[in-house]
Amino acid sequence: MKLNLSKTLEKDIPKIIADYLSPDNGERAHAAFQFTINGVTYPFVRNLNFAALPDPPRQRRYSMLGALFLARPGDLMFFYQSDPQWRKDDIDSRRGLRGIYVVSSAPFRGTDNIKDPTTGYTMLGNCPNCHISRSTLSAKCPKCRKEYPTVNLQSRSDPYHNLLLSLRIEIEPLIVFERAISDERAYADMSDTGMIWIGRHDNQMGAGKGSSVRQLLPEEAIKITRMMLSEPGQKISFPQKVDYKFEKKEILNEDGTKVTDLELRPVNQTIKIVAQEHMLNFDIARSIDNPNSSFVKELGNEFGINEMEYVSSEFPWGYTAGESDFIVAFKNETGRYKVFVMEFKRDWIDDATMIQVSLYNRWVVQTICQFATPKIENITVYPIVVGRRLKKDTVRPRPYSFTASYNSGVSVKADVKSPQFIDYTPEDEFTKGGIIYAASLKYKNKSIGIPQIDWIPEQGIITSQVERDWVINTSWVIAKKKTKSS
Ligand SMILES: [Zn+2]
Repeated sequence: MKLNLSKTLEKDIPKIIADYLSPDNGERAHAAFQFTINGVTYPFVRNLNFAALPDPPRQRRYSMLGALFLARPGDLMFFYQSDPQWRKDDIDSRRGLRGIYVVSSAPFRGTDNIKDPTTGYTMLGNCPNCHISRSTLSAKCPKCRKEYPTVNLQSRSDPYHNLLLSLRIEIEPLIVFERAISDERAYADMSDTGMIWIGRHDNQMGAGKGSSVRQLLPEEAIKITRMMLSEPGQKISFPQKVDYKFEKKEILNEDGTKVTDLELRPVNQTIKIVAQEHMLNFDIARSIDNPNSSFVKELGNEFGINEMEYVSSEFPWGYTAGESDFIVAFKNETGRYKVFVMEFKRDWIDDATMIQVSLYNRWVVQTICQFATPKIENITVYPIVVGRRLKKDTVRPRPYSFTASYNSGVSVKADVKSPQFIDYTPEDEFTKGGIIYAASLKYKNKSIGIPQIDWIPEQGIITSQVERDWVINTSWVIAKKKTKSS
């Protein structure tokens, strides 16, 4: 279904967006993304119809790639503009939420430096000095350490550098709200039903805060749509798509290997693990809706892609850093009814991992149930732990249920299954420049034989290390002993 809203009555738009973000006719739902951009990069979205992110070195890289590679053509994209636009200081250029665009390509590498004709600001695709395309959002090249060129912006007191953003994705305008809804209103206006929970996590200001791409819950995307429509003085336009006229290159690692080639670390003579945990997010994000991928196959028949409603890498359920590694929610004719909550480890899965994934359940259930439409009364939770090896004597909790009521008036009964363990094995290994790579990972469900114990996580416990340690000493060890002696 290709969306066109140019002839639609405004009052009908939220319902059309809601249907579009729902599984339909045996097809998974379209997703809604929130990209964080700023005043100098929004014009590239608005006028040149592409969105761009840095390809950062190390830690942040696979976190970014994990989120970006969840985007499929047809998905919706909303933008959070974190500061006012350049050269204007009027109400239409202020900070806030903008949209709505449709993803129209796979992510690609853009190495061209592109000048926005309306502002004269140049987005870099490679370092003017050493020509690499990896970058952070900072003013210096991470490789040659040379500073990027700067320009003076009306909206900033100090000169601002040209950003190097080489991970790019083409988008098509669906409906352009020329006036942003301010973030003050978006997160504070409770006269509109629901509350934006996921989206607010990237709106703190300051270096390194938040991520640059998030997966909005459908109810959040719909609320943002309603608020954009009701924004006083809103101007709506339906611009024609502008094609990306530059070269679209394959995204590669610095040494020319494919981005999908994952660096490995040997831990002993026989075992190698992925160099970074977020490589699992990236690998799984790419294939989460592919019924032939070994990961999806190992999740079993309960993981029905035709009912897939919502997928998130690094799902933020907490106030600050509380995140679950990966979640997938499913919807049938009654509404959202099933969720897979996943915890990833590069190496060992042990009791602590089983506790960790169990502690997420309540928080994930709250976040996906409290404002869902239609209202949720029952949900089934499938905890999944993914790692390289299972520690001897690891146990897992038996299935249990809990009921929770929320401020929104929703009361939910959750049935939690016993956690499943899926291991990964690097495949198609090769070496380049002394680095060992795996061209793919193979997954295998190894849950059978892991004993189950009678244990229910304490209510109100979050998942920081000290809380997990407290749980293991307070209730887990006792429950585990009881199972052994019975
Ligand atoms: Zn450089």
